[in-house]
Amino acid sequence: MKVLVVNCGSSSLKYQLFDMTDESVLAKGLVERIGIDGSVLTHQPAGKDKTVINADIKNHSIAIKLVVEALISAEHGVIASMQEISAVGHRVVHGAEKFASSVLITPTVMQALEECIEMAPLHNPPNILGINACAELMPGVPQVSVFDTAFHQTMSKKAYIYGLPYEAYEKHRIRRYGFHGTSHQFVAQSVAELMGKDITELKTITCHLGNGSSIAAVQNGKVVDTSMGFTPLEGLVMGTRCGDVDPAILPFLMKKEGMSVEDIDNYINKKSGVLGISGVSSDFRDIEGAAEDGNERAQLALDIFAYRVRKYIGSYVAAMGGVDAIVFTAGLGENSVSMRASIMEGLEFLGAEICPERNNVRGKAREISVDGSKVKVFIVPTNEELMIARDTKLICGK
Ligand code: AMP
Repeated sequence: MKVLVVNCGSSSLKYQLFDMTDESVLAKGLVERIGIDGSVLTHQPAGKDKTVINADIKNHSIAIKLVVEALISAEHGVIASMQEISAVGHRVVHGAEKFASSVLITPTVMQALEECIEMAPLHNPPNILGINACAELMPGVPQVSVFDTAFHQTMSKKAYIYGLPYEAYEKHRIRRYGFHGTSHQFVAQSVAELMGKDITELKTITCHLGNGSSIAAVQNGKVVDTSMGFTPLEGLVMGTRCGDVDPAILPFLMKKEGMSVEDIDNYINKKSGVLGISGVSSDFRDIEGAAEDGNERAQLALDIFAYRVRKYIGSYVAAMGGVDAIVFTAGLGENSVSMRASIMEGLEFLGAEICPERNNVRGKAREISVDGSKVKVFIVPTNEELMIARDTKLICGK
């Protein structure tokens, strides 16, 4: 069974074609600048040269058509015809409370996805465009929606209701939703496999640390709590997002600086985080480099980031009444030797001790704790696309 995984942004479309008999990637690629001058498709077939196709890609329908043409092309293709694609799996950011797991897309599901737009006005509309584009091009091919929020739907009310009047939840569905769910689920499952245990026997803390960062407490395979909230702004300090702040700061700043709602939204989403603290960059490689050169604010940004992650780990140990495994994933979590070391410093009291030699690795699935560490610590490269392909196969059942 061959599954096409599609992840649509407002002006981009990422894709991977999987052969699910062995979960291998046949081809992957990216369409950029959809609807903007200079649009381009970069297509990477497995075992062949990468190809770059410049074309006028006005919308997502044209983008997906070009992707399928690349997949079946005599030169760069990996399949003989479009009919070989048995199903399409889509990443959808927000499923709100309507979806606690991946679903086969039907007209009723599409209606529900439309209703979720107000929760994710930037993300869900392009996801829907991608689904419609595939349905148009490949009528009759089953399509599955896999939600960033779904894995977190197991949280209990005490974890997801905010300290606001309850009507905010009843009237506007304001609550913690959590994001990066596909990644948290993938790494939690992978760690269970690495430990030779079933996910239902474990208490795991999954740290997805990238440009956007979140952390989740996964007990017996179910999310107990997670750091992102109503939107992906809450929780950890991120590349450009502030994470947890005293909410009273926002009206204070709006008054002091004469900021509009849009201004403050931009300030906390785009200008804050490690970029705002360091004044250097939102990219951790740049910040680590500047800190090594003696930039004190860059070092401060790294210290604040690590400290916040450590505090969340501590609180999630308390939330679950213990922890068996801590896992690092995503760009920073998989690659930054020094950040992992800095986060874990001082957590030895939990029985979690990392080994400097084992930690000295980038992007490989492995245990990095010392032999005999009561709490095991791992790196697991995330693979949201594979998770989407697996769910799509499961639901389409071929
Ligand atoms: P992601 O959003 O998962 O793609 O992660 C992007 C973040 O990971 C960026 O801030 C990168 O600087 C960071 N990152 C990637 N590779 C490294 C590395 N080798 N060392 C430190 N940070 C890294």
